[in-house]
Amino acid sequence: MTVPDYDVAIVGAGIAGSTLASLLAPHARVILIDRDVRGLPGSTGHAPGVVAQINTLPVLTELARRSVAAYTAIPNGFDNVGCLEVVRGADGKNWIQDRVAVARERKLEHSVLTTKEAQSLAPAFVHDDATGAIYYPNDGTANAKTVTWHAQDLAAASGATLVDGNVTSITRLGQTYTITTSDDAHTARRVVVATGVWAGQLCPCLASRAVAFAHPYAFANRHAPRTRMAPFARFPDAVMYVRDHGDRIGIGSYNHDPVVVRTAATKVLPTAYTPFQPQFTHTMDDAIRLLPPSTAATFAGRVDAQPAELTMLAAGNVPYGFTGVFTITPDGLPLVGRINLGMYAAIGCWVTHAAGSMRVLADLIVADIRGEDAPEADEWLRAALDPCRFHPMADVECESHAVDKYKDIWNKKDQAKVLAAL
Ligand SMILES: Cc1cc2nc3c(=O)[nH]c(=O)nc-3n(C[C@H](O)[C@H](O)[C@H](O)COP(=O)(O)OP(=O)(O)OC[C@H]3O[C@@H](n4cnc5c(N)ncnc54)[C@H](O)[C@@H]3O)c2cc1C
Repeated sequence: MTVPDYDVAIVGAGIAGSTLASLLAPHARVILIDRDVRGLPGSTGHAPGVVAQINTLPVLTELARRSVAAYTAIPNGFDNVGCLEVVRGADGKNWIQDRVAVARERKLEHSVLTTKEAQSLAPAFVHDDATGAIYYPNDGTANAKTVTWHAQDLAAASGATLVDGNVTSITRLGQTYTITTSDDAHTARRVVVATGVWAGQLCPCLASRAVAFAHPYAFANRHAPRTRMAPFARFPDAVMYVRDHGDRIGIGSYNHDPVVVRTAATKVLPTAYTPFQPQFTHTMDDAIRLLPPSTAATFAGRVDAQPAELTMLAAGNVPYGFTGVFTITPDGLPLVGRINLGMYAAIGCWVTHAAGSMRVLADLIVADIRGEDAPEADEWLRAALDPCRFHPMADVECESHAVDKYKDIWNKKDQAKVLAAL
């Protein structure tokens, strides 16, 4: 029997695949394949990377906590700027009460602030019409590209092979997988599919479990460097968020009818960054209007960016918007684990959860290679992330739950009810 070239082939070098490669490379012969390993054409490439640890789902808090610890250890990997949840209107008090209860239960440091106190922390983000805020000092923003390149460097230093190639098929003969790219073929004993919004291409069984959504994001024009970066802010009633990128402000919004990007459409997308879609113009204008007028003015004259212009626009001083594409699962948890013999998924891992969930997967794969049991302490995480957990559910139902998750991205609904419905 021929020995495969590698112990593990990882397809997709975004933050998930690259982090996994760095964790596996010291223990196994690893190949990491991507259409453009260093270019990061996937969702990782321009993600704003806000990392909030609070979540009504304990699994997501745990993964976020572990991810923050991992990113903090990487030079320039994480800016511990904190997170403000800013509320408006009379209902805001209920949000704060509920969040305080969750934060206490999860032992997350937090403090309830008046509007004035919130304004002193983030004057550019908090309008006078806010009715209060809650502040989480240990949250922050991950530099997704820096983290991913760092992981790639670590993987290479531990002997992993990193190659550019468009994987066209994955086939299995006996215990060996052949991963065919447009101009090469590699064999491996195990394969991990970490292909982000393209999950359904190589693994059709994941298509309806990892639903791709279009999401608008915009940058203001440049501001003078600040001595202290503001916390990122989320506005739960308006489902929008805003962050300071150091030299300019960025804003994203979920306050629109969710736009699913189907597998047939992702198939022809060279990157997860698409032109700004005019249907999001009002959404973004509404979000920007919630900011103090002097900040809102920095988005005036915003241009609709084309994907090829993103790097050039980022270097310039023109406000611009684009449409990113990312994946959401029916219950909002990543799909991470074994799909079948020797085949694993690492899909739907947000920047917030990527490092934490890839450690869980790396431990599982190393245990499989050694013929041992994976760490018992993480069994609850492996069970929650099991990529086959939606198995009997109809595709249409999976998509409908994923759509609900987009609308309720910060888990405002009672999660016990949401999960019971699955
Ligand atoms: C606008 C925007 C805002 C976001 N905001 C946040 C945020 O604030 N916080 C947060 O936590 N997350 C955020 N996200 C989500 C986050 O960026 C993604 O969930 C995460 O980056 C996904 O990483 P990944 O490694 O799974 O996938 P990707 O980064 O998409 O990587 C997948 C890789 O697979 C490769 N690939 C696919 N198919 C093939 C193939 N056939 N052959 C070879 N290679 C292939 C692609 O080239 C790509 O590099 C945001 C995303 C976007 C777009």
